[in-house]
Amino acid sequence: MKKKDLKSLPLDELTTYMTSLGQPSYRASQLYRWMHVSLADSFDAMTNLPKELREQLRSGCKFTVLKQADVQVSRQDGTRKYLFELGDGNLVESVLMQYRHGWSVCISSQVGCRMGCVFCASTIGGLVRNLSPAEMLEQVYRIQMDIGERITNVVVMGTGEPLDNLTNLLTFIRMISDGNGLNISQRNITVSTCGQATKIKELAKEKLAITLALSLHAPDQATRERLMPIAKSNPLFKVMEACDYYYQQTGRRITLEYCLVSGVNDDAKSAAALAKLIGRVGYHVNLIPVNPIKERGLKAPNPYTVAGFKNKLEKYGINVTIRREMGRDIDGACGQLRRRFSERQDEET
Ligand code: SAH
Repeated sequence: MKKKDLKSLPLDELTTYMTSLGQPSYRASQLYRWMHVSLADSFDAMTNLPKELREQLRSGCKFTVLKQADVQVSRQDGTRKYLFELGDGNLVESVLMQYRHGWSVCISSQVGCRMGCVFCASTIGGLVRNLSPAEMLEQVYRIQMDIGERITNVVVMGTGEPLDNLTNLLTFIRMISDGNGLNISQRNITVSTCGQATKIKELAKEKLAITLALSLHAPDQATRERLMPIAKSNPLFKVMEACDYYYQQTGRRITLEYCLVSGVNDDAKSAAALAKLIGRVGYHVNLIPVNPIKERGLKAPNPYTVAGFKNKLEKYGINVTIRREMGRDIDGACGQLRRRFSERQDEET
């Protein structure tokens, strides 16, 4: 029988489980507190639980704790990029960034990714597997413990397509925003998707207060298909229709991520087409010059082109920002650290 994954259970499910073991329900609250507030990394610390119970849980259940395999610290802005080892030896990366309003952690939702976006390092080796809710939570927990500061914001923008792992993602969001746990406000949580229309609608029905970010990257179907294979099965008009639905259902403004690639989507025509596409309420554009990865031949536009693109959008009345580039000196883009680390290990062995 599969072992119960204790840290992936929301409090109500943990209570049901503990009751099934013949334990009073307050034991579930104690255990939940140890795991999700004290962020304990072993049963040894849980001194208010009877020793026999701790032994029973240790041998009968799964207790997920991520191991820090590497960390790189940016000399430019202090951004920290963590590489964590999962129980099965797989590696995932997470990034810590400090903003004026607090500490933000960018987490991975899968090991690898099957979406195939041409500019992205995470997808090069394909999808290995989904992360469990506990493995997503643990990325935040280990980083909070490492820096000794309260994490205030979470962005699901690391490796993987979060909506490809929707059930676990929803459990993760419920648990990290739970008042019995770290209690991170849903308003401070962002989920970024490459755009699967049906899944966006499913997420909308949950009526969460999180921010949805759509990786748009092109204002027309042909260019989008060139950059993102997923666009073939999810035509632009359907994705935008799903985003409009999301806005109607939740009242939450949607961020459109637009990764600028020199000579591909950074000209005046693209800006005009983009303005036309989103000339409606509820959207905000975030421009990101592509972070070139060595496996692909894409180039970032120069800063003048980026600023020019932004100005054009503003003239059309579009709400737009340029994403602050953080940690460029430490392979900031998704999947780059994990790839580099694996390559280094390949070279060493
Ligand atoms: N699968 C999700 C989340 C992971 S990618 C998604 O597609 O949104 C997070 C963001 O980083 C996406 O907007 C993605 O397009 C962008 N990204 C990936 N590789 C990048 C690169 N090399 N340079 C700039 N942005 C990149």
